[in-house]
Amino acid sequence: MKTSLVLISLALATAAMASTPSSPNPGSSGSQVAKKSKVTSPGPATILTRSENRPLAPDECALPLNGETMKTECCPHDKVERPRCVSPLEALLTEGAYAMPPSGSRDTGTCRPFEFWPTGGILHRDLFTSNYVDLDGSAAVQAFECTDFSYDGHKGNDTIVRSFSEQIAGVPIFAVADGVVLDANDGEDDQNTTWAGQAANYVVLEHPCGRVTKYWHLRKNSVEVATGDSVVKGEQIGLMGSSGISTWPHLHFQVEEDGTHVEPYMGACGPANSMWEDQPGVNYNNYISDAAFCVEDLATAPNLPWPQPRTGHFSADDETIYIWMLVHNLPANSTRDWTFIKPDGSIAATAGPFEFNNGTNWGTQYGQYWFDIDAIPGLANTLGTWRVQFRINGILKMDLPFDMVADRGDIWNRKPQPIGGWLVPAEPEAQNAIVANVSTNLLGDDKDYDMVKYRYMWYVNDVLVRDVTSAGQSDILARDKAESGDEVLCCIIPQDGKEYGDDWYCLDATVALAGDANGDLLVNIGDLLLVINMWGPCPDPFRPCGADLNEDLRVDVQDLLLVIGDWSRG
Ligand SMILES: [Zn+2]
Repeated sequence: MKTSLVLISLALATAAMASTPSSPNPGSSGSQVAKKSKVTSPGPATILTRSENRPLAPDECALPLNGETMKTECCPHDKVERPRCVSPLEALLTEGAYAMPPSGSRDTGTCRPFEFWPTGGILHRDLFTSNYVDLDGSAAVQAFECTDFSYDGHKGNDTIVRSFSEQIAGVPIFAVADGVVLDANDGEDDQNTTWAGQAANYVVLEHPCGRVTKYWHLRKNSVEVATGDSVVKGEQIGLMGSSGISTWPHLHFQVEEDGTHVEPYMGACGPANSMWEDQPGVNYNNYISDAAFCVEDLATAPNLPWPQPRTGHFSADDETIYIWMLVHNLPANSTRDWTFIKPDGSIAATAGPFEFNNGTNWGTQYGQYWFDIDAIPGLANTLGTWRVQFRINGILKMDLPFDMVADRGDIWNRKPQPIGGWLVPAEPEAQNAIVANVSTNLLGDDKDYDMVKYRYMWYVNDVLVRDVTSAGQSDILARDKAESGDEVLCCIIPQDGKEYGDDWYCLDATVALAGDANGDLLVNIGDLLLVINMWGPCPDPFRPCGADLNEDLRVDVQDLLLVIGDWSRG
């Protein structure tokens, strides 16, 4: 196909100029502005949309702002009795049923830590974990860091994307470790928004050490594995969806040991050891993960997670400008204020502060706020690029442009903004899956506020081995795709649904020689001696040690063979 060929050659051509990260455009710092007469009337009707499961306190459901209308579908997920994310039937079918595989073939070695989050995307950027494991045996709720970021009886980590737009674009789900498929299901509807006992699409994996991982709510017809298949770490097994008992596109990721669900995170109220190689932190800060302008009245637009209206253009005919935003971790009793800036840089108006009237801290949960703004002085007859600055508790959170055009028929598309990126690990070894991460501005990634997706093209020794378009801000090359000494290249380009960005951003790495135990880039007698000297189990039963070349937590003949295998390459 001609298009692909062009893209491939573009990728290779730009590979050489790969390594400097382009800087995202952060909002400019807030400047003190003289308060002008208040002419805007923000109509902050508010919809609080929780990802799922957490009841809203009554004061969060009602936001009686002066003269403003509240959107009545405030609390679509506010239910007293909540069924589990995994239905009782599915639980019967799957939970504990795999605790003891009948065969004696299991490798009883200690499990290795997980190297990456099993979903395309970056936590607290385009991904958000709305529920951790409930570690409290009673009706109360306790998550690993002593918060209530879970619901009673929840057995996994629920990680969501921002809307069905991302699900539709596709968000890959990856096997978190090598393993065998114990069970899989597909063909179920995948845009559920209610808990009604629906059947889910899912995959259950058993790993050689006996650990079981479960991946729930997958997109219809996306499951790429079948019972009995072998999978390797980082292999795509499906796409994120909202099948089963689910109100939002998310992955329910559940880890089991000895037939019992466990929390992979360590924390003050959780396990003493983490199952993560680098445990992802929880972001408790106030931030905004998405926002857009629109001409539609959001009172009549479908609620999240359905795709939200988005534009970066208005005309003189648009009397009201609407803006919506996803606000995380709003501190109790927060305020907001606005500054509207004309194309010549002068202040057209300021407004606020206004109360959010949120009596409680939201923890890490979030909600969608939306506002209608009209009567901004000079708006209708001042064409060009305007900016809206939005502050929470006096701190600038957004500085977003929109364009005033003479006629909405003039509206054109702008390509998505340039991206940067980085690989994890930066210096991969043969036993690693390799993660390519995108660095971009969550709010300024597209001047038309289109949802941006990314095309990832992975090459090993100049041969294309994976080509995927994903809404996720990361992608993974499976462990078995690149071997000792191979050259890995990942080229990424943003796409706004209409056009690709101007440039590919390419990342490259050379896979370390597997037999290089002492890291001197040679494989020789030094490595052989190190293996012999460290022979036996690693001192830390949870972390690979220096000469444990295959990272199975012991130094043995397998490691010796890796040294011998790479001898000539060293
Ligand atoms: Zn769940």
